[in-house]
Amino acid sequence: MRRALWLLAVLAMQPAQAATERVGSLGGIAVIDRLDVADLPAGQTQRFWFRAGDSQIGQDWLVPVIVVKGARPGPRLLVTAGIHGDELNGIDVIHQLVRGLAPADLAGTLVAVPGLNTPGLLRSTREFTPDYSHASPNLNREMPGDENGDGVEHYAGRLWHRLLRPNADEAVDLHTQSRGTAYVLYAFASTPRAQRMANLMGPDVIKLDTGEKGALENELVRDGVPAITLELGTPEVFNPEMVRRGLAGLHNLMREKGMIAGAVVEPKGVFTGNRLAVVRAPRGGWARLLVPLGGMARKGEPVATMADAFGRITDTLLAPESGRISASFTDPRRERGSTIVRIIHMSDAPECREGC
Ligand SMILES: [Zn+2]
Repeated sequence: MRRALWLLAVLAMQPAQAATERVGSLGGIAVIDRLDVADLPAGQTQRFWFRAGDSQIGQDWLVPVIVVKGARPGPRLLVTAGIHGDELNGIDVIHQLVRGLAPADLAGTLVAVPGLNTPGLLRSTREFTPDYSHASPNLNREMPGDENGDGVEHYAGRLWHRLLRPNADEAVDLHTQSRGTAYVLYAFASTPRAQRMANLMGPDVIKLDTGEKGALENELVRDGVPAITLELGTPEVFNPEMVRRGLAGLHNLMREKGMIAGAVVEPKGVFTGNRLAVVRAPRGGWARLLVPLGGMARKGEPVATMADAFGRITDTLLAPESGRISASFTDPRRERGSTIVRIIHMSDAPECREGC
C-alpha cells in the first residue's frame, strides 16, 4: 500500500504528457502549436496547420501536416518534403500517398509534412529565406534547432521538438538535387536499418554516408530514429516518373513495416557506393555531357566537354574514378568550380567503410 502511494506521488510529479495543442482554426483546418498523434482518434485522416514561427509581418509561418491514423495500431512513419524550398517532387509524392491511403486499411500512423520550409517555398529557394536582410541558412543543417533561439534556430526548434521528433518511429525525408543539376533516384543511408529502408525504396543508387550535422535525417538517426534522405531528380518540377518511383518506394517500405497489405518487392540492380568523385568545371563556359546521368563512367575516359562562348572546346573532362554517374548538371551554363558530374563508387579504404 505504502509503495503504491509512493508510486502515485511520483507519477503525479511527472510533467504533463505532451498533447496536441490546438490554438484555433483556419479555413476549417485546426491550427496547432504541438502535435502528438497518440491523442488523435484511430481510423481517420486529419489535417493541421502547424505554427513553425512568426514572420516579419507579424503573421505565422504555417506548415501543412497530414496525419493518417490507421484503424489498427502500428508504427509511426514520418514522411517530409520541402525542407529545401525549391525541391518539389516529394510534395507531390506525399499528396498522392495521402490521397490513395484509406485509414481503414492502415496499421499505424503516417505523419506527412508536404513542405517544411515555408519561406523557402514561397521564394523557390533552397535556403530558409524569411526576409532579405539576413543571411540565408540551410534549414537542413539546423536541426534540432532551439525553440528559444531566433530566426532559423527558432523555426527548426519548433519543427523538431513539437512536430517531427515526437511523432516518428522511422522517417523518410524527400529531396531533389539543387538548381541546375539532377540526381538519379538516390538514397543516403547511415545505419544497417537505414540501408534496408533505402533499398526498399528501389533507388538507382544508395550512398553510404555518415551524415551531416544538423540534417533532419542524421539528427533523427542520432536520436534513435532510423531515417533516410531520398533524392528525387531535379528541383522546381513535379516529375511524373520520379514521383511514381518515390510513391512506389514508400508503399514498399510501408508493406515491409506491416502498415499496408501486400507483398514486399526486393528491388534489383541497386548500385551501392561509399565515396563520391566530383568533376567540377575548370572554368566558366558551356558544358556538354558525354556519359548520361545514371550511366557508368570509366576512370580516365571523357565524361564531359567545356566550350567557350564561341563553341570552341576548351576542356575535355575525364572521370577520376570508375563508377555510376549519380548526379550531373542540367543547366549547361557552368560557373568555374560548379558540378559537372558526381561519380559514386565503392572505395575499400578503411575510413570509407561507412561512407566518406
Ligand atoms: Zn535538399
